[in-house]
Amino acid sequence: MTDCDVVVVGAGLAGLAAARRLTATGLRVTVLEARDRVAGRNLGGHLADGVPVEMGGQWIGRPQTEVLKLVDELGLETFPTYDRGDGVTLYRGKVTRYSDETFGLSDDAAVEVGRLQQELEALAEPVSLSSPWASPDAADVDRRTLDEWLRANTDDAEALAFWNAVVPALFSAQPAEMSLLHFLFYIKSGGMIDSLVATTGGAQELRVVGGTHQISERIAAELGDGIVRLGSPVHTIVHDDDHVEVVFDGGSSTAARVVVAVPPTLAGRLRYRPALPGSRDGLTQQIPMGSVIKIQVAYPTPFWRDAGLNGFAFNLDDELGVTLDNSPVDGRCGVLVGFFEGAHARTAAAWTPDERRARAVASLVTLYGPAAADPIDYVEHDWMAEEFTRGCYGGRLGAGVWTQYGSALSEPIGRLHWAGAETSDVWNGYMDGAVRSGYRAAAEVLAATP
Ligand SMILES: Cc1cc2nc3c(=O)[nH]c(=O)nc-3n(C[C@H](O)[C@H](O)[C@H](O)COP(=O)(O)OP(=O)(O)OC[C@H]3O[C@@H](n4cnc5c(N)ncnc54)[C@H](O)[C@@H]3O)c2cc1C
Repeated sequence: MTDCDVVVVGAGLAGLAAARRLTATGLRVTVLEARDRVAGRNLGGHLADGVPVEMGGQWIGRPQTEVLKLVDELGLETFPTYDRGDGVTLYRGKVTRYSDETFGLSDDAAVEVGRLQQELEALAEPVSLSSPWASPDAADVDRRTLDEWLRANTDDAEALAFWNAVVPALFSAQPAEMSLLHFLFYIKSGGMIDSLVATTGGAQELRVVGGTHQISERIAAELGDGIVRLGSPVHTIVHDDDHVEVVFDGGSSTAARVVVAVPPTLAGRLRYRPALPGSRDGLTQQIPMGSVIKIQVAYPTPFWRDAGLNGFAFNLDDELGVTLDNSPVDGRCGVLVGFFEGAHARTAAAWTPDERRARAVASLVTLYGPAAADPIDYVEHDWMAEEFTRGCYGGRLGAGVWTQYGSALSEPIGRLHWAGAETSDVWNGYMDGAVRSGYRAAAEVLAATP
């Protein structure tokens, strides 16, 4: 006898998407969540006057069809990210305004960036999304870091500065912290670089009215009372041929199967009895999370729009890497969302919140002029300090990890199944990937359930 059919560990999008699919077939499911809220990396926040701002994952692109379907099914609405007008780039103290696809780089650097992008995408084309370790020349491609490849393929300082800013903007990690194979897998998984970087037509196209955390909240509400247990950090999973026992602070739950829907590095911190094979344990020791502090800076109006600017700024000079217009749908105030990412996040984490605010505002004044000097509000979230996330946006694989350990990423072990954005072939690392991974894990469980 077991308490339920399936225990899901983690009430982020992956775990809740899996639970929704499983309960729809009549299976009895318990979701154990460590925090006192659902939604994991999709944390909802608000400004002092109540305007909702997303402190975690926020944008959805039109090709991210699984999460969009869910948004629709749950009765939520989307609206387009403000994207009208010019962007600005700061490089070596000079702010350049642009309206084309050059990101305001010099002509030579823009051509060089385009050439490198084409070469990287040509390398990504043959990468297998389902088995990156089995791609042509995988061992060679996985041996080197993205940083090694970039430095071997260009000596244009401005083009390098661009890549050293765009990579942390996508991964919250430096080019030296991931293998070339991981970078190629990831860009292909999200439809290549323009799709990842663009607002309109790309991954930043849409926002959810009121915030993305509501997707998880509505699934949890739909699942009904008693299925999601908050404040229940799992620490041990006992498993044998017949059942699993999932032990959390305050109790335990037995089931036929368990879906572990937490980032790989957190899955590696659980105790398994018996211990898992070395391939799986070695893998989870080697998928560190990125580093990011997300900020929202509010003004009485979106004043940059009056100057014909779209709020997108690319900063190659200091710690505040990227900003976008994040004003509420009703336009009642102006909000710029910004990120300290990768190495810059590690630097900024040593500052006090007041210092971060002062530095961010100084950057915004450089980018947008004196009107940026007096924000009416500032909120921030340091994801590196979160016990049950330990960094964002997601996990990355360094040199040699995909080819040595990659096959253990989502392969079930007996009655243990793995979900989470990091385990998805498509839109890996994104909300859409999280949902897809939950559906994949649910399908595995259903296929194994008599
Ligand atoms: C700042 C930031 C910006 C982002 N921007 C975007 C974006 O714009 N678009 C996009 O698509 N994606 C974005 N992402 C990524 C996106 O949020 C994630 O890919 C997605 O939410 C991951 O969902 P998940 O269910 O796989 O993992 P998580 O959301 O991490 O869920 C895991 C859950 O497991 C719980 N948990 C952990 N350990 C335990 C334990 N021991 N016992 C029980 N429960 C446990 C956690 O509390 C959490 O609720 C962003 C992320 C961040 C942080």
